[in-house]
Amino acid sequence: MEHVIIIGSGPAGLTAALYSARANLHPLVIEGVDAGGQLMLTTMVENWPGYRDGIMGPDLMTELRAQAERFGAKIVGGHVQRVDLSGESYLVETADGRHETRALIISTGASARLLGLPSERTLMGHGVSTCATCDGYFFKEKPIAVVGGGDSALEEAMFLTKFASTVTLVHRRDALRASKIMQDKARANPKIRFEWDSVVEEIRDADQGAVTGIVLRNLKTQAVKDVGVEGVFVAIGHTPNTGLFEGQIDLDENGYIKTAAGSRTSRAGVFACGDVQDPVYRQAITAAGSGCMAAIDAERYLEGLPTPTAEAASAAT
Ligand code: NAP
Repeated sequence: MEHVIIIGSGPAGLTAALYSARANLHPLVIEGVDAGGQLMLTTMVENWPGYRDGIMGPDLMTELRAQAERFGAKIVGGHVQRVDLSGESYLVETADGRHETRALIISTGASARLLGLPSERTLMGHGVSTCATCDGYFFKEKPIAVVGGGDSALEEAMFLTKFASTVTLVHRRDALRASKIMQDKARANPKIRFEWDSVVEEIRDADQGAVTGIVLRNLKTQAVKDVGVEGVFVAIGHTPNTGLFEGQIDLDENGYIKTAAGSRTSRAGVFACGDVQDPVYRQAITAAGSGCMAAIDAERYLEGLPTPTAEAASAAT
């Protein structure tokens, strides 16, 4: 029987591991398929406090992992296949076996959303990508497209101009969702052109096994046109990884875990932190902060104490 199992190893999970290890709870961290989380797919992180010149995402995760291990966190590879939260202790199953725990911290993060086109699936990894920092290098001097109108899409588009000959940004509306500063930067970049009010109807050419172009439909005029590109980067947001927990704890209408009074979920002893419960801030630093909260909440729970925020809330009423 473990004191605490942490599912997921992004900034939230590893910060929860660091804090619960330092509380002598000997946490078991099950990394998940994407060990290290979304920061493993980034290059320079410039907004993590304390690094005035920035730090590479993978380097930051390596440091966080080593820091958690230094205090006794056990970090194992593997993917959780099933959890059972119905008993007084909780069961977590991986391909390697079953684990039982008194408290569970969920930090399974969120995954890239896709357009849902069959050609997108067929060509994924063959010209279609959800990660500019991973795959941008393959598109030196080639025309590419980025789909989406949020900060991620603009960030990827600007990053990709380092490699691509042109970047066509395809957005379904005529106004971007991204922050003003990102919009200004993207609009000022001569390599980026915009296709407004447009959706990708098809990515060519699944038969050739390579991207040769996209078919766009303008939602205002219904006009359809072909744009020749050799790569398509899909940057239309993320979906929380909560399939394992459906029907066992409360989720919101978008599938994010509902938390209250810190990191508490609808089941006692089960806590959630990071992007899996945060549709709003979704930053590495807020994920790490919420991981710290989850560890403290789990520690208090295991000691039979009310969580700090629940205590504060009841004192205030
Ligand atoms: P997001 O803000 O949810 O934006 C998703 C974009 O994709 C929206 O423009 C949306 O269009 C579009 N979209 C969604 N589904 C689509 C579909 N099926 N087909 C076509 N377009 C679709 O997601 P995000 O850009 O990943 O950003 C997530 C959060 O992280 C945000 O809070 C963002 O500020 C933050 N972030 C910050 C930075 C930074 O500060 N450096 C970088 C990246 C992300 P609509 O606009 O029409 O809904």
